[in-house]
Amino acid sequence: MAGVHDCDEALRHLWEYVDAELAAPDCDQLRAHLDGCSGCLDEYTRELVMKNLVRRCCHETAPSTLRVRITQQLEVLRVQASSSGS
Ligand SMILES: [Zn+2]
Repeated sequence: MAGVHDCDEALRHLWEYVDAELAAPDCDQLRAHLDGCSGCLDEYTRELVMKNLVRRCCHETAPSTLRVRITQQLEVLRVQASSSGS
């Protein structure tokens, strides 16, 4: 029987889940596992961020442009964080 009942199994299916290639029943079980397991959720979030970064990098023609944009976004986040903290 296929199923996502423990962390080994969840991590094994993580890439498929991130790539949206997992069959619906497994997908539901994995989502349920992620809901109750912060360790696997962390791992999933990391995979998702990496995937998005890689995809974005592939579309960028100039890596320096991407770096400037990230720096600007970090600056905005820092300003927002400091202004809401007072
Ligand atoms: Zn887990």
